[in-house]
Amino acid sequence: MSSLLERRALLEELVSKGIRLTAQRRAVIEVIQDASEHLDAASLLELARQREPNIDRATVYRTLELLKKLRLIDELDLMHLYGEKHYYEAKTERNHAHLACFRCGRIEEYASPLFERLKAEISKQAGFTIKVTRLEVGGNCSACAADTTTVQEDTETRTAAAQH
Ligand SMILES: [Zn+2]
Ligand SMILES: [Zn+2]
Repeated sequence: MSSLLERRALLEELVSKGIRLTAQRRAVIEVIQDASEHLDAASLLELARQREPNIDRATVYRTLELLKKLRLIDELDLMHLYGEKHYYEAKTERNHAHLACFRCGRIEEYASPLFERLKAEISKQAGFTIKVTRLEVGGNCSACAADTTTVQEDTETRTAAAQH
């Protein structure tokens, strides 16, 4: 993974802020930190339970709220490929865009210096202090775009993908 997409060290940053963590909260945070994909709350709960069996949904949601409040994680909807779920990831040092494939459901991360320049321009031209930015792009990934064997309506395949 490129250095542009290096993740914030969640546990270290919380400790440096003097925030005390229970073993349960620590497990939830470790799962987010170690994740190689974007996880929703249900998957987070399942994975955290493998580390700390007593974790409940409330712990997951409270931990997510804390991390969001401190701006250590991003909350994404990933073009609603799979309905109304939200996904979480440790913030990266630079913003990245999410490219969501309507056909296979793959999520690609894309970082560009142009994104940083756009943020700088917005701050300057609009006098806006940016705290959060999010860029999601929906369409067909390179593999699906090259695959001409199945030509279907995007909406049909998206529904089929959501049922997996
Ligand atoms: Zn695809
Ligand atoms: Zn991401």
